Amino acid sequence: MKQAMKYALLFAATFAAVLEAADPTQPIFWSASQLKDADKSANAKLNPERHLGTERMLDSAFIAFRNGSGEAEIHEKLADLILVRSGQGAVLVGGKIVDGKPSAPDEIRGKAIEGGTKYPIAAGDVLYVPANVVHQFMMEPGQSFTAMVVKIKPKL
Ligand SMILES: [Zn+2]
Repeated sequence: MKQAMKYALLFAATFAAVLEAADPTQPIFWSASQLKDADKSANAKLNPERHLGTERMLDSAFIAFRNGSGEAEIHEKLADLILVRSGQGAVLVGGKIVDGKPSAPDEIRGKAIEGGTKYPIAAGDVLYVPANVVHQFMMEPGQSFTAMVVKIKPKL
């Protein structure tokens, strides 16, 4: 019994370590021109079905290029800080997720949102989406944007 418990705890600790963010312990500097290159890399990695291309900067941050609407999503434990770098679009935030299903640990994805508040976003804007709040990128035809998305473990 005790031995089984020990293994269970060891397994849990290992699993948690794998899931735990592994952000660097050393400083990283990105110049404005390096960030522009990262914007281009995100654009070049566009997945046409998801209308999304991403370039990872840190475990907790990436640059997103989006040229179409996304799925409704909920991250139960992480907030999104969205710093819009170029272009424009909109984010629907809050309300109720439609057909929400678990897609990863602490993540729910769905087709759409009922209700919610639509925030138009454009270059220079910043939007904070709290943890456990549904949100969905809503794009008009022809719209696209790049944004730095920073995942935050909220202080409660
Ligand atoms: Zn999100």
